[in-house]
Amino acid sequence: MPGYEMWGAEERREVEEVLETGILMRYGFDGPRKGRWKARELEAALCQRTGAAHAQVVSSGTAALTTALAALGVGAGDEVVMPTFTFVASFEAVLSVGATPVLADVDDTLTLSPAAARAAVTPRTKVIMPVHMCGSMADLGALEALCAEKGLLLLEDACQATGGTWKGRALGTVGKAGCYSFDFVKTITCGEGGAVVTSDPEVARRCDQYADHGHDHMGVDRGADLHPALGYNFRISELHAAVGLAQVRKLDGFLEIQRRNKRALREALAAVPGVTFRRIPDPEGDSASFLSFFLPDEARARAAARAMQAAGIPAMYWYDNNWHYLRRWDHLKTAASFSPLPAGVREALTALASRPFPASDAVLSRAISTPIALGWTGDQLAERCAKLAAAVRSAG
Ligand SMILES: *Cc1c(COP(=O)(O)O)cnc(C)c1O
Repeated sequence: MPGYEMWGAEERREVEEVLETGILMRYGFDGPRKGRWKARELEAALCQRTGAAHAQVVSSGTAALTTALAALGVGAGDEVVMPTFTFVASFEAVLSVGATPVLADVDDTLTLSPAAARAAVTPRTKVIMPVHMCGSMADLGALEALCAEKGLLLLEDACQATGGTWKGRALGTVGKAGCYSFDFVKTITCGEGGAVVTSDPEVARRCDQYADHGHDHMGVDRGADLHPALGYNFRISELHAAVGLAQVRKLDGFLEIQRRNKRALREALAAVPGVTFRRIPDPEGDSASFLSFFLPDEARARAAARAMQAAGIPAMYWYDNNWHYLRRWDHLKTAASFSPLPAGVREALTALASRPFPASDAVLSRAISTPIALGWTGDQLAERCAKLAAAVRSAG
């Protein structure tokens, strides 16, 4: 899955170009930078790769989600429907704009259940935010229809699915806006970074301004820029953007390797009785960064995860995970904030503590994911296939 496995001469060359001029900032210094605009080039490359009309590169995936929500006009009093299974950054971004995250169940796609999302909609709902977890997509057809019917905005958290597609469209470009993460363990990395993509020029303009203190970016002198609205500093540095630029050019190569490696592991596991696989709404668009599967019950899933770990194969047993599943988000459920939360948000969060999510539990207590590496040799892959199948079989 992670681009850090394939760090090399291409990344070094891009960084070197920035180091030569010493202009580490993405804005201004037009003369000394000698025509080197890495953040801009990365944005152009992302547009080209995804088909999005606009891309705004920022300092992290969390910053991208925050920027997108702000640009979509989401704030105090608004509700954002999101899944119980994601990374904590998804709700952090919602909270950071003063809105309320409303959690809804996931289904056997490991992503937001369209039925659960529908049931979670209230008059205060503004956004439906599916998360394309572990490399593949939510049921975007059903979620798009729900948003159209109810007049809601679709925001895709595609931080774990850069390069994936749904019916030929890049994940992140199906909704009103979509976000990617380029943190160190993502499909492509620039150390720390992220991006918002959108086809809406007004949303794009707002992202551009919000991520840089509200600068209108109309002039050549930053100091003379006007500030049409409040913003923050979520800028990416040119050094980070340079790495991202080299990595985005490698994305198709990464996907090809991931898909090949995943296919082999999946075939090996398909022969094990009791194993079923995560449902993928459009299998062709799977970015294949993880292989995710189910055992018939929690006991067998726990036994399989233990056997995999004993065999030296990483096994993500999400049900017990501190960072990815609601069950262990005690800080969210107790609203453990260093500073006071906006009116109504604390009540909504603490109400989660006593609300069961049996449908999510039923999925995640049986689910295991294992990451797909880029660097395996043919022998290593064959060995992993055999070990994975043996470990999971032993749990039967
Ligand atoms: C990684 C991730 C993020 C946040 O990205 P960062 O770049 O680490 O801030 C958001 N959502 C999901 C689902 C992620 O996996």
